[in-house]
Amino acid sequence: TQAKEKDVPYFIYSPESDLISERRIKLALDLANAIRNNELELYHQPQLFSNQTHITPSELLIRWKHPLYGFISPDEFVMIAEETGLINHLTTWVITRAAKHAKALVTFGIHDFHFAINVSAHDLSKDGFCHEICNIFKRHNLLTNQFTLELTETTHSLDSETFNKNLFDLSEAGFNLAIDDFGTGYSSLTYASDHPFDDIKIDKQFIQDFFNSEKHQAIVKATITMAKNLDLNVTAEGIEDGVTLELLKELGCDKLQGYYIAKPMPFNEYLKWRSPNFETHTKIGENLTLDF
Ligand code: C2E
Ligand code: MG
Ligand code: MG
Ligand code: MG
Repeated sequence: TQAKEKDVPYFIYSPESDLISERRIKLALDLANAIRNNELELYHQPQLFSNQTHITPSELLIRWKHPLYGFISPDEFVMIAEETGLINHLTTWVITRAAKHAKALVTFGIHDFHFAINVSAHDLSKDGFCHEICNIFKRHNLLTNQFTLELTETTHSLDSETFNKNLFDLSEAGFNLAIDDFGTGYSSLTYASDHPFDDIKIDKQFIQDFFNSEKHQAIVKATITMAKNLDLNVTAEGIEDGVTLELLKELGCDKLQGYYIAKPMPFNEYLKWRSPNFETHTKIGENLTLDF
């Protein structure tokens, strides 16, 4: 129904849409302040490399605790940020915060990390995006190859010259590039292999209920086989049980992620999760409040 509403040039009143839009307007207005007022935080969801045990990668997921509404899903406010043009501001905050987390680890001698950061297709449509984020990482002396940028392909209209230049430049700069939510929307293996992507991340809708769904197993199997032939790494997200985890490992998934392994958690908890050395992570947590 949302798509339908977008197609019509006038506003159809309904009490429900009024309520939704009121909330949306309030969120749009509050988001700019939230970025300034420390209402946002980056959580880490641990991942596993199936062929490495020493590196403990994580995906960084934004969390917003709104003073009135409580926790709001990024699925809701990232879209609002995209529609209102706040997304570039939000992404800059995310990248800066991620760089701080990484820098905190490096400062305490922890170098075996890999962070996956979500960026929006709208970000890549902005001139100089690559340059801007490279500067942030350079300023913190961080290696770009320790970061994956995850991108959800939502519409082909974003496949512009600027978008492709940014994508190419980011790849040249050393970032690992992934297509997120693969199998939904417009993403295809042709698209992935025609652009400088390194990874595809199979959408969780195919992974959930994996064991019981022959159809999903067939889709995932075929995707992995084709991706491998095209030299793309495969990540599976949304793994919620041990049977699925073992099956996906067997099928050759390179990176694994899901509630069964661990849920998204605050940075401090992630540090505890990855390292049993309590003293170190307490110090890192304290230092994070300082400006690196
Ligand atoms: P995504 O990038 O596909 O992230 C994976 C989502 O699946 C996350 O939801 C994560 O919490 C959830 N998830 C992980 N494992 C499981 C599982 O085993 N079961 C289930 N049911 N869910 C699982 P989350 O954190 O709510 O984020 C939703 C989406 O919001 C993300 O999807 C991403 O598209 C977007 N997002 C999150 N953080 C950022 C950000 O910093 N920047 C941008 N641009 N988008 C972000
Ligand atoms: Mg993601
Ligand atoms: Mg996504
Ligand atoms: Mg996803």
